[in-house]
Amino acid sequence: MKLSKTNYLVYRDCAHNAWVKVHKPEIYHAEPLSVFERAIIEIGNDVDVRARELFPGGVLIRRGDAAGTAELVAARTPVLYQPVFETERYTTACDILVWNGAGRAYDLYEVKASTSGEDRKAKDDLYAHDIAFQAHVLSENGVPLGRLHLVRLNGDYVSNGTLDLTRLFTREDFTDRVTPIFEAVRAEMDAAHDLIQLAALPAPPCACIYKGRSSQCTTFAHINPEVPDYSIHDLTRIGTSPKKLRALVDAGILSITDIPADFELTLPQRHQVEAAQRRRPFVELPPLQSFLDDIAFPVAFLDYETYPCALPRFAGYAPFNHVPFQFSLHVLMHAGAEPVHHEFLYTEAHCPDAPFVAALKATLPPEGAIVVWNKPFEKGINTKLAERLPAEQAFLAAVNERIVDLMDVFSEQMVVHPGFRGKTSIKWVLPALVPRLSYKGLAIQEGATASETWNAIVTGALEPEEAREAVQNLLTYCGLDSLAMLEIWRALQTIVADRDIREAG
Ligand code: SF4
Repeated sequence: MKLSKTNYLVYRDCAHNAWVKVHKPEIYHAEPLSVFERAIIEIGNDVDVRARELFPGGVLIRRGDAAGTAELVAARTPVLYQPVFETERYTTACDILVWNGAGRAYDLYEVKASTSGEDRKAKDDLYAHDIAFQAHVLSENGVPLGRLHLVRLNGDYVSNGTLDLTRLFTREDFTDRVTPIFEAVRAEMDAAHDLIQLAALPAPPCACIYKGRSSQCTTFAHINPEVPDYSIHDLTRIGTSPKKLRALVDAGILSITDIPADFELTLPQRHQVEAAQRRRPFVELPPLQSFLDDIAFPVAFLDYETYPCALPRFAGYAPFNHVPFQFSLHVLMHAGAEPVHHEFLYTEAHCPDAPFVAALKATLPPEGAIVVWNKPFEKGINTKLAERLPAEQAFLAAVNERIVDLMDVFSEQMVVHPGFRGKTSIKWVLPALVPRLSYKGLAIQEGATASETWNAIVTGALEPEEAREAVQNLLTYCGLDSLAMLEIWRALQTIVADRDIREAG
């Protein structure tokens, strides 16, 4: 069985998972790709295609066509897109090969749909291994290799409305990063190849039993069926305390409800355990009371939906800037008032920035608290809008000043409910505090699907009837987001009021 570059990179993350991917695809792919994961793949494809324009006139190789590639390489075809190479043990496809007549060699260009700014060191290391794998397979095929390059999006590039590809992409010579790891990568490739030939799952068992939930891959539950759904791995920040986690696992304690009272935990972790064991919420009343008291009327519950555009679509946008296309707003003018609902959804193919801000201006009360969930997101969108619309800077800065993050109640553990399962997402908090409201059953249940739905509408990918339905689905989903905040806020008011009544009694 040949080792592909993709499986080699999975192996570098986790040998166990690479074996499962190859031998138990029904487990590895048990969960269908999320909309978010599919979007990442599509973004990668889009970026690949645009990057080819940097090297025009190339020949696109059919998927898996190693023989065709060999012929074109032998003929020194100047530019090849997606050439395929195989050896007895390995297989890989490259993004772009360019014949360098002066060097009498092919220069390799690996294209990545990422900017140079994020997690640069870790990503550069990953990319160097990715390129080294390709370089080994090409060398074994007798391809004369010149320089090894990485092409990625330039995070500093701001579009003027027409993409300038030479500035949108950066080309970095990675040869000097690849050379020092070249031999080590070969050894790793051999080990990965040998591992996937094994007929049985290699020992030791899944190492993530000693890691927090966020480190675990999707096959964890299948490999560790003895671990309950809500386990010690869900303890807040347990991933940063590996000794504690190891002590619990080694003592055979896997359920969060089995953690003994004398086991050393942080206060937030202890609150979480007590809430789970007693099956009732834990409430820190004074900070909750003070948080709610600081929310001034009129209260506006506001939620944005956006589309992250890898390739800037409009003037003023940089790679991966979010296009704000929708908001939902529930306003309570005073205590006991009926909420008033406003909504905005832009479905034209033009830039929604100006109409989005105009609609905000028309519907947001001029004063009072603006309640959101996870404020860095909405504030960040407002900041970017202000950069693109300088005339709106004062308004957007004032909006940001008034923003209150309702998620703080949960991330700061003022309320801990067993139903939260240690999470602070509104998708977990809502059903626990307001069981009559739910995202289940909605055609759109999370932000990534909303983004992709909007993109399908504005790019004309939907038939008119489908587009009308998609618009309705977006309005329903975003409307529930702001309504959910309003109802969670009301549930918190009730918690405080009930405590007051109990304490008075
Ligand atoms: S859960 Fe962790 S150790 Fe287990 S297979 Fe996945 S990545 Fe590997």
